[in-house]
Amino acid sequence: MKYTAFLIKYAEIAIKGKNRGLFEDALVKQIKYALKKSIPSQDLEEKGLSDWFEVTKASGRIYIECLADYDFDEVAGNLRCVFGITGICPVKHVADEGFDRLSEEVIRYVDEVYPDKHRTFKVNARRARKDYPLNSQEINMELGGRILDRFPEMKVDVHEPEIWLNIEIRERIYIYSETIPGPGGMPVGTNGKGMLLLSGGIDSPVAGYMIAKRGVKIDAVYFHAPPYTSERAKQKVIDLAKTVAKYSGPIYLHVINFTDIQMEIYEKCPKDELTIIMRRYMMRIAEDLAKQSECLGLITGESIGQVASQTMQSLNCTNEVCTLPVYRPLIGFDKQEIIERSEQIGTYATSILPYEDCCTIFVAKHPVTKPNLNIIKRSEKRLSERIDELYQKALESDEVIIVR
Ligand code: ATP
Ligand code: MG
Repeated sequence: MKYTAFLIKYAEIAIKGKNRGLFEDALVKQIKYALKKSIPSQDLEEKGLSDWFEVTKASGRIYIECLADYDFDEVAGNLRCVFGITGICPVKHVADEGFDRLSEEVIRYVDEVYPDKHRTFKVNARRARKDYPLNSQEINMELGGRILDRFPEMKVDVHEPEIWLNIEIRERIYIYSETIPGPGGMPVGTNGKGMLLLSGGIDSPVAGYMIAKRGVKIDAVYFHAPPYTSERAKQKVIDLAKTVAKYSGPIYLHVINFTDIQMEIYEKCPKDELTIIMRRYMMRIAEDLAKQSECLGLITGESIGQVASQTMQSLNCTNEVCTLPVYRPLIGFDKQEIIERSEQIGTYATSILPYEDCCTIFVAKHPVTKPNLNIIKRSEKRLSERIDELYQKALESDEVIIVR
């Protein structure tokens, strides 16, 4: 079936009262951005088109008209990454050339889309143009009858049909019956910006995805510790950011050289407190970057009790250095649940590549699981001599990579 348009369904944003228009505009913007990914720009010029797709909003719906040939799987795949969309209905357009012609087209549609005819269906006509000679109910009855004549194996079920055959009578006529599920959530850009602490692990990319799903734009920071962490470890983080960016839009990824701070902590502080103190410095730097780039919160992939540095006591110690809210969307998730999410969003295969990150290299054999904040603060005092200078140096090492 050659579909000539898509009807986009959205749920949550429709209930936002006065803000509805703003949310719809944000969704249209994200849809256009997603569609651009499937258009080679030189082809547009060759074809004399200013755009490949036309996106319009009308009465609680968004329509995408496909003005030229396109790759269905690619376009549908890109739309499936747009937060705010709950369903994507591929549409076939028919010119209004009389009811007999419409019936033929509908029968052809059913034949192509449903090779197995042992299905129940219901025709659901909507007459947006009141000058059409048949009203909605008449269209339902008449089309239903003609479909049954042509495909006697099919059955009408008006209560719970397997196939809802939607026919909309507008300037042109729209036929659609299939819905590809969208990711839900809210369009990115409607809820401020957050700074994601992105490591090469399984958890933090999922955390970024989940916060972006609520409409939050994402910046990210990765703490790199060369030569202890390799270029491949850094590339892995860039690749993860790329996958998250499919959903969140472009990500400004800050790469901070963390080696000197880490070495200093390693030399001066008790081994069992290394991870906690290191995490406190990561949070401090992330917060500084967040404030510089107008982010309203930090985002991490922490989950209670997952490792020693994520017990309630440890989280209490790392949280203490932040003034911005810290969003931890995975806080109540089991590892297996996080893994399932990462498989769904496409980050898992990259996350499990073996390249070490700085946490794994400097980790103590027996880290404290119930750190005491006062003791941690006392240990940090041992750093006072050089830490300000190293901190400044780390901030200056900031390399910004724009990941799309
Ligand atoms: P992940 O799978 O996200 O790496 P993890 O289970 O390895 O998580 P930790 O190493 O304790 O957990 O890290 C907790 C959180 O701290 C991570 O989810 C991430 O948000 C942040 N984090 C850890 N290491 C780094 C790093 N090198 N750069 C940026 N953020 C980091
Ligand atoms: Mg990690």
